[in-house]
This record gives sequence, C-alpha cells and structure tokens, in this order.
Amino acid sequence: MLQHSEAVQGGRGPAEADAGVDAVIVGAGPAGASCALWLARLGLTPLLLEAGNAPGGLERDNPHPDNWIAVLPDVTGAQVADNIARSLAQAGVVPRLGQRVRMARPDPAGLLLEGDGPQGAWTLRAPRLVIATGVRARGLDDRPPQPSPGVLVGPGGHIVAQDYQGLSVAVLGGGDNGFENYDYVRAHGARTVHLYARSVRAQRQWVERADACDVRIGDYTVDPAGRTVNGQAYDLILVFHGWAPQADFADGLALARDARGFIRTDPATAEASLPGVYAIGEAAQRMHPCVVTALADGVVAAKAIQAQVEAAAARRASRNNHPSSGDASP
Ligand SMILES: Cc1cc2nc3c(=O)[nH]c(=O)nc-3n(C[C@H](O)[C@H](O)[C@H](O)COP(=O)(O)OP(=O)(O)OC[C@H]3O[C@@H](n4cnc5c(N)ncnc54)[C@H](O)[C@@H]3O)c2cc1C
Repeated sequence: MLQHSEAVQGGRGPAEADAGVDAVIVGAGPAGASCALWLARLGLTPLLLEAGNAPGGLERDNPHPDNWIAVLPDVTGAQVADNIARSLAQAGVVPRLGQRVRMARPDPAGLLLEGDGPQGAWTLRAPRLVIATGVRARGLDDRPPQPSPGVLVGPGGHIVAQDYQGLSVAVLGGGDNGFENYDYVRAHGARTVHLYARSVRAQRQWVERADACDVRIGDYTVDPAGRTVNGQAYDLILVFHGWAPQADFADGLALARDARGFIRTDPATAEASLPGVYAIGEAAQRMHPCVVTALADGVVAAKAIQAQVEAAAARRASRNNHPSSGDASP
C-alpha cells in the first residue's frame, strides 16, 4: 500500500513529500497503470499521479467494444478502464487523482515536479520519473483543439453522445478513426455524411465499407465558424486529424524527441535521453499505439527501474562493507 498520500497535497515541502518513493509515474492510463502495478508487485514503491478523476486513460472514453485484447474478449473500453482501476487496487496502488503535473525539471537531488490538484499547488522531488501521459486528438491546426460549436474533435464519448438524426455531417480524416466514425454517423440517422481525406491510411476493411460517393480524396479547406468544407455547408464537422503527444509539462527536461514530438527512448528500457526519466505508451509511441502495447511498455519500464534500484542498493551495500574501496557512484 502506498504511504505517500501527503506527497501531492498543497503546502507540503518536497523533502517530506518524496520519502521512500522509487518512481513517480505521471498518467494512469494503460501504460502508467501497468508500470505502477508491476513496480508495486516487484516490491517497489510507485507514486501514480493522474489528472483525471479515474484511472484508465483514453479507454475510459471508449464506450465501444474493444476486441483487440486477446485475453479480454467481450469488453468495452470503459470496462477495460474499470479493470485497470481494480488491478491497481488489488496491487495496493492508490492513484492520486485530479493531480495535473504542470512542470518537470532536473534538480540536484533528482527531478523536481510541480503540479496542482484539489488541495492546490504542490511540489515534489522524484528519484525517477515515468512519463505516461498519452496523446491528445489534433484539432484543425496543430494547437490544442479549441471548443467551436458544431465541430467535434477526436473519437470518444462525445461522438456517441451527439444526436445525428437528419443532420448533414462532414467527417475529416483518412485514418481508421475517420472511416470508422463515418460509418458510425451514417448508421445513426445522419441525412448525409461526406468523408474528406487528404490521403487514405485506414484499414482496408473500413475503406471498403464506405460509399465511394461520400468519400472526397484530396486537399480540403475548412471554415469552422461558417461550418463549411470546400465551401459546402454542414450541420456538423467531425475532425479526426490524428494525435499529438501530451507531454508539454516535461519540456524543461529537454528530452530528445522525434519530428512529431514523441519522446525518444531506449528500446530495451524505455529510458529517455535524461537518465532516470522514462517514457511509455503513446507519449513515446515506441510500438503500434493500443492498449496491449501500452501495458507492455509499462512492464519494460518497471523492470528497468527495478534493475536500477537494485543496482544502486548493491553499490551502497558494497560501499558499506568496503568503506575504503573508493566507489563514489550513487
Ligand atoms: C475512442 C477510442 C477508442 C479506442 N479503441 C481502442 C481499442 O479498441 N483497442 C485498443 O487497444 N486501443 C484503443 N484505443 C487506444 C487506447 O485507448 C490507447 O492506445 C491507450 O489508452 C494508450 O494508453 P496510454 O497509457 O499510453 O495513454 P492514455 O490512455 O492517453 O493515458 C494517459 C493518461 O495520462 C493522464 N495525463 C495526461 N497529462 C497529464 C498530466 N500532465 N498530469 C497528470 N496526468 C496526465 C491522462 O488524463 C490519461 O489518463 C482507443 C482510443 C480511443 C480514444
């Protein structure tokens, strides 16, 4: 059981906040939760911080059946999220919910994190940091999506909550999400649905289900205020322009990133370019993004952290047994 509920409460100094924690994990989606669970079961002490009010990450916002997990037939994404919460509880990991990390930077004693939660702002020192903050849906431009009436961005519960009866709908995006949601909207009473794709990247099964008359391939221009695409007016515009990494809070660590901003990591350990910092799941996009690879990434980081912690303990023991050996490493 974690004994560090004080770690993220406002008013506490970092020194007492981090006592005994082996790694702070930011994000309780499949990747971060898996890492925390494995660390706890390996006998280490993780501290799991989550900005939302429940663990599960993007899967919590997926009301559809998730048929891509070989060991979990017949579950929805939301049920996967509930299972994640149960697994954490059984491993004795208490995620700190409603805690958004705002900033991380190197510190002489390790890493310094700042964030805020229900009790206000807090500061925390961590010996190791695991970034598991996933991705956010891209809006019409590269900035975080701005709310705009009649424009829905990314897949999830808000798409299901929308009433499409009798509406004209433009779906933007040529990936799986575009075609899958085109199909969904068409099956839920929309009067017309047109899919705009600059290029088609979706799985063949989705592309083949689309009516060729509805699909417009090539460049397109969107006016969100007038709700038009290539000059044609729609009642609703649904945007599926892919995903951007959600790890701005870690900018102060100056980690190596790829051209799209995903954090680069060592394939064998999930360690980023700064020692002691790990990035897993969709924030690193080391493998095809999905629940199973996010879970696996959590395991990789947990085992690497265990090896680091045990090596450090062995060095300390050796120094204590041979005080004159001159080994000054931490
Ligand atoms: C509608 C939908 C359907 C999907 N269907 C499937 C499917 O059928 N099968 C499948 O395998 N995958 C599916 N996916 C993809 C799957 O959900 C993701 O691949 C997976 O959740 C990625 O896990 P993750 O832990 O890397 O990131 P996430 O699940 O995104 O979790 C990241 C967590 O970090 C938290 N966080 C972010 N920033 C901060 C911060 N600064 N401080 C604290 N916490 C923070 C977030 O709140 C979130 O809980 C679907 C996704 C969506 C949206």
